[in-house]
Amino acid sequence: MKYVNSLCTQVSQELQISTETEDPIFTDTVIIGNGPSGIALSFLLAGNWPFYNGEEHPDQLLNARLKTCSKHIPLLLQDLEFLSQSMEGRCRNKISNLIDALTHPNAELEINHPSLLEYQYLADKFVDHIVIGKGTPGGLWQNIDKDIRTLSFSNWMSLPGLPFEIWENKVEVQIRRVEAGLVAQYYEDYVKLMKLSKYFRNNSQVVRIEPKSGEDGQVRWEVFGYDNEQNKSFTYKCHRVVLATGTSDIPNIVNVPGEFSFMGRVFHCLTGFEKAIEDLVNRNSEVVNDVRSVDPVLIVGSGFSAFDAAVCARKYKIPITHLVRKDAIPAVERQLNRVYYPEYFELKELENTQPAMYKQYVEYTLTEIQMMRGKLIIIMKSPDEVVTSHTVSLVAILTGSRADLSYLPVSYQNGKVLAIDTSKGIDSKHNSIQINPMTHQVMKAPEGLYALGPLVGDNFVRCTLGGAITATSHIAKSRE
Ligand SMILES: Cc1cc2nc3c(=O)[nH]c(=O)nc-3n(C[C@H](O)[C@H](O)[C@H](O)COP(=O)(O)OP(=O)(O)OC[C@H]3O[C@@H](n4cnc5c(N)ncnc54)[C@H](O)[C@@H]3O)c2cc1C
Repeated sequence: MKYVNSLCTQVSQELQISTETEDPIFTDTVIIGNGPSGIALSFLLAGNWPFYNGEEHPDQLLNARLKTCSKHIPLLLQDLEFLSQSMEGRCRNKISNLIDALTHPNAELEINHPSLLEYQYLADKFVDHIVIGKGTPGGLWQNIDKDIRTLSFSNWMSLPGLPFEIWENKVEVQIRRVEAGLVAQYYEDYVKLMKLSKYFRNNSQVVRIEPKSGEDGQVRWEVFGYDNEQNKSFTYKCHRVVLATGTSDIPNIVNVPGEFSFMGRVFHCLTGFEKAIEDLVNRNSEVVNDVRSVDPVLIVGSGFSAFDAAVCARKYKIPITHLVRKDAIPAVERQLNRVYYPEYFELKELENTQPAMYKQYVEYTLTEIQMMRGKLIIIMKSPDEVVTSHTVSLVAILTGSRADLSYLPVSYQNGKVLAIDTSKGIDSKHNSIQINPMTHQVMKAPEGLYALGPLVGDNFVRCTLGGAITATSHIAKSRE
């Protein structure tokens, strides 16, 4: 069985799988995925519940609804449906927008308004649970290139009860973006500092889950997986399973000849690409300042990861050929403020250098990758079907990623049958898992299956907390 199949390095590693199996473990809730969603849910299930502190909210309509909200009753026992009425914002789900508005009031005006939520430990609210994740706590943040800076400001990367800047020991909150490596460290430390480590089974992968009907007519779930640290299989039997596995495990491919033929030269993730650039620079250290002597890198993709790859190549002064589906720079300009995101704007300016350090090919498609006399050649087609070939040093195909839900029962067809539109695969932007927004239970599955984060269209860390609070509220009510 393959447990590691990394498109980043094009290497499929067969791990030594032991046949050792531990006895089934009984717990209430199994959370699959140890990223921000899974960590926030663990904090809440451990008994740390939010209370509204009674302060004024700058949104007057929300403020009026908050007048019905008691300071002394935990927020998740209050009428979240009413409180989240007509809430809009960055998140897909209304309750996520409510929780985001309470945690980061006035966020869009870039004001660091203090949170209106306070967390209290309530021992009787503890729910026994385990969080299972492939790597160390932090989810995709453990795999993102450490030097790439977040799109979000640092305080928006915070998890409940320990704001990022408090963890950093910053006296004054600044509006700034931070390196992904620092965010990954914060999530790892958060689990330790909030005393959650005992609920985490890291470096472990869930390979299968199954619903089982009990004699009492209630559904139980069985979760099977493999612990790569202890080299043994495990089984959990539980009442509930929470899918918090994100949508970044399988990089998209462009499906052209040669895409998988040149190991170490063609990449589908930023980390492998940046490492290869460093090696390229080291090999060419004496000529690298002369841009004419190094073949350009080809970057395919119009999203932020593709632009991050270009920013990375620019850092090393390597010329860049960038294939984008539409002129993506105006999209960047529309979405981002130049003061905080200068690197994306500086790229475009490189088109005017002599020779041009950055060249964008809008609506061109990559049709083949070849190797000729040790040189990597890419063939591309213009919108009017003119075919050209170019020599490049490396290729980065960064056209997005999708969820790996292969651990679901086979009949769920990789999650497709759980989607809003069951004729298409799961996609965080357009076709997420369909949930009841008031409970976060998956609509098209037996009872006890929940989903959070990008899997349900809540794509920013700011948005993941609302789902975790909603699920905790429903779990607490169903246990009573
Ligand atoms: C390049 C990039 C940049 C981003 N920048 C920002 C940003 O600046 N700000 C922001 O708010 N959001 C950003 N995001 C969005 C990001 O999705 C969220 O920040 C957040 O990581 C979602 O948290 P999550 O816990 O739901 O999922 P993830 O962080 O994806 O964590 C899920 C974890 O579950 C693991 N997993 C998957 N399958 C299994 C299995 N079978 N068994 C065990 N574990 C499994 C995954 O490997 C992963 O580690 C960015 C996303 C990307 C891809």
